[in-house]
Amino acid sequence: MIRIIAFVVAVIVVAAAATWISEPPGRVEMAWGDYMVETSPGVLAAAVAVAAAVVLVIAAVVRFVWIGPRRVSLARRRRRERLGYRALTQGLVAAAAGDPKRARRFARRADALLEEPPLTLLLSAQAAQLEGDDHAAHGYFEAMLDQPATAFLGLRGLLVQAERTGDTARALELAERAFALRPETPWVLTALLEMQTRAGRWSDALGTVKQALRHGAVGEDVARRRQAGLLFERARALREQGEVREALRMADEARAADKAFLPAALLSAGLNKESGRDSAAQRAVIEAWRHCPHPALGRLFLALHADRSAAERLKRVETLVAENSHHAESLMLLASQALEAKQWGTARQHSERAATECPSAGVYRLLARLEEAETGDGEAIRRRLQQASEAPPDPAWLCTRCARASPAWSIVCDSCGAFDSIEWRTPSRVEASALPQESATATDDDEEEQPVPAAAGTAAE
Ligand SMILES: [Zn+2]
Repeated sequence: MIRIIAFVVAVIVVAAAATWISEPPGRVEMAWGDYMVETSPGVLAAAVAVAAAVVLVIAAVVRFVWIGPRRVSLARRRRRERLGYRALTQGLVAAAAGDPKRARRFARRADALLEEPPLTLLLSAQAAQLEGDDHAAHGYFEAMLDQPATAFLGLRGLLVQAERTGDTARALELAERAFALRPETPWVLTALLEMQTRAGRWSDALGTVKQALRHGAVGEDVARRRQAGLLFERARALREQGEVREALRMADEARAADKAFLPAALLSAGLNKESGRDSAAQRAVIEAWRHCPHPALGRLFLALHADRSAAERLKRVETLVAENSHHAESLMLLASQALEAKQWGTARQHSERAATECPSAGVYRLLARLEEAETGDGEAIRRRLQQASEAPPDPAWLCTRCARASPAWSIVCDSCGAFDSIEWRTPSRVEASALPQESATATDDDEEEQPVPAAAGTAAE
């Protein structure tokens, strides 16, 4: 407004100056119909300037009348927004601090003040969850599905609820919807794989792994291992149904997907042995020993040569471990077989080397057996058993999430339901002491095994 007045004043000043400059000579005459205007050029210039100023003032007044109320409403809206975002912030802080009542109150306030359904829905759902009001939370999650910005979050909330209530069909459906929205998100991938695996939908699960690899959600190594794991589970299911040929084909596919995946090699070798195809079983064991030496492979190998003498079996074992004879499992297998063959010197050499390189309860139990067989020296046997009780526990199939031991590998942990969480590893002393005796024995699919006690301090068999 001030600028307009200044402009008008400037125009009048300029017009007056023009009049003063243009005085005195000359006249202007304008005729329009019967009307005739006669004036000097200076007066005409001043009249034009005044007319322009009047038009500008009218325009300014109209603009003020037109825009003024809108400005007022804009200011009011901004204030509501400011209060709304403050309520939202306070609500989120309350939710993070675990104060459901406060969170709910601020959620309602923010909802009334803001036109931001995604944000207020999120806070309302969090507050309802904190209060343990699953029904209300369910409603908020459902409402989130209608908004593109929150649909994914809503699916997650509903999925967690469905899993908690054990509604696996609904959980699978929700996981599939979430995967269609964002296949590259790790939790979606894990959830979908878990659901498909639990439902025994192996082909779908394999397809999910391929898609995850394509979207870069998992690396090639993880994808290969999961493919191998899923094919292994499929093979195991087929074996249980008595379809041995098909099970064997799947187990070999699993081996091909990941050569270092021990369970597939064990299953393939075991199935070949059951079908009387000893040489195929032996090839599978020899191939697997190169990538992942393991006591169960050794037991299977010895079972394949059960009809030979102990000395002959030792020779076979020497061939088996030739490529990685320094590995602790190779040394242990050589030592125990030498003990069977009563070749005390060889048994002592290998077991003492194993004790130096990778001391474990199992190595010292083996040394105790050797003392018993060779010398019968009670003091030496007691010393070895004492060392066994102090050494790191023997490895077992352990879940990385719940730390429970399983008798064999499986793609889903029987205890906590985690996906691909079971690994062959040495338990910590705390884990080992917590393991129940019967589940602490690591046996595999192929039986006639000697149990491998995982707890420290277990006496020799
Ligand atoms: Zn577990």
